[in-house]
Amino acid sequence: MNKEKAQKLIYDLRNKLNEWAKEYYVLDNPSVDDAEYDKAIHELIDLENQFPELITPDSITQKVGGIISDKFEKHAHKYPMLSLGDIFSWEEFLNFNKQVAKITDTEDNEYTAELKIDGLSISLIYKDGLLQKGVTRGDGKVGENVTTNVKTIKSIPLSIPSKDEIEIRGEVFLSKKEFAKINDERLLNGEQLFANPRNAAAGTLRQLDSKIVADRNLDAYLYYYFNETNPIDTQIGSINQIKKLGLKTNFETKICKTLNEVKTYIEHYTEKRNELDYEIDGIVFKLNDKKLQEEVGYTAKTPKWAIAYKFPAEVKETKLLDIFPTV
Ligand code: NAD
Repeated sequence: MNKEKAQKLIYDLRNKLNEWAKEYYVLDNPSVDDAEYDKAIHELIDLENQFPELITPDSITQKVGGIISDKFEKHAHKYPMLSLGDIFSWEEFLNFNKQVAKITDTEDNEYTAELKIDGLSISLIYKDGLLQKGVTRGDGKVGENVTTNVKTIKSIPLSIPSKDEIEIRGEVFLSKKEFAKINDERLLNGEQLFANPRNAAAGTLRQLDSKIVADRNLDAYLYYYFNETNPIDTQIGSINQIKKLGLKTNFETKICKTLNEVKTYIEHYTEKRNELDYEIDGIVFKLNDKKLQEEVGYTAKTPKWAIAYKFPAEVKETKLLDIFPTV
């Protein structure tokens, strides 16, 4: 393909993706499914790889995907809230591991395997033992202060047994059961339905009326831990510490010490994902040793020491959601 043609394609893809990202992140109302979005963004990444001179800093491939609403006070994140690189096959995992091995000098890397909960990122800031703030990811640098809403989530404690300044991050989500209950009520009230639990959770947490939030039974799994006073040197240690402080961590998290264990974990949850009572869209593998994480480093948008293995898109049955309009 010549450069002129690539430029035109890149322009069209960026426009289309920016529009879809706005619908998804700002309006919580996507018009296309994730598989279609992912296909388009990977087309754009491929074109930008072929013609790196056409990459611009404002390209959607270079930014963390959220936009900040004026409805909420803004909060500048102390540590950026990044996205994750994604892969769709075992071969791609092996390639990812080879890139990591260039820094760690071994292909026998130890990873945590964590389910990729389909919700929205939250950052919780605790100081003097009290929850001070709950903030969304926003554009990765600046998020929305949604503390009042976060305080209605029963599984997020308002106080913890540590006086250190601690930031704990994870995912706010709605169980499949709560999601069905909300949509049943909306159907009865003649209101537009939510497209999926992720959009319902995002729409709920970014509500101005915290009474509505409290009624909807949001839940949260936490997995990142920042404490400069008493740092922890592994990802699995962080998860254990979060649990010790009284926050909820995902029971299915495991340590994979070999590639074979990674493969087994992927196979197991590809089969079992529908049996869980919350939606997952993949598995996140994170290099366990935090010193090695820092050596492997980051791109502008993602850590290079972690990867999201995404499940193939599911063939959806026709159900009420396909018949009635959704939000
Ligand atoms: P992402 O959602 O693919 O991955 C990053 C996020 O994963 C993190 O921010 C975190 O919130 C979440 N996560 C869940 N469990 C985690 C765990 N255990 N450890 C770490 N992170 C975990 O990335 P993204 O940049 O937020 O968005 C891209 C996704 O959004 C794609 O799946 C894309 O299809 C979808 N999207 C869809 C549309 C659409 O129109 N349908 C538009 C934009 C984005």
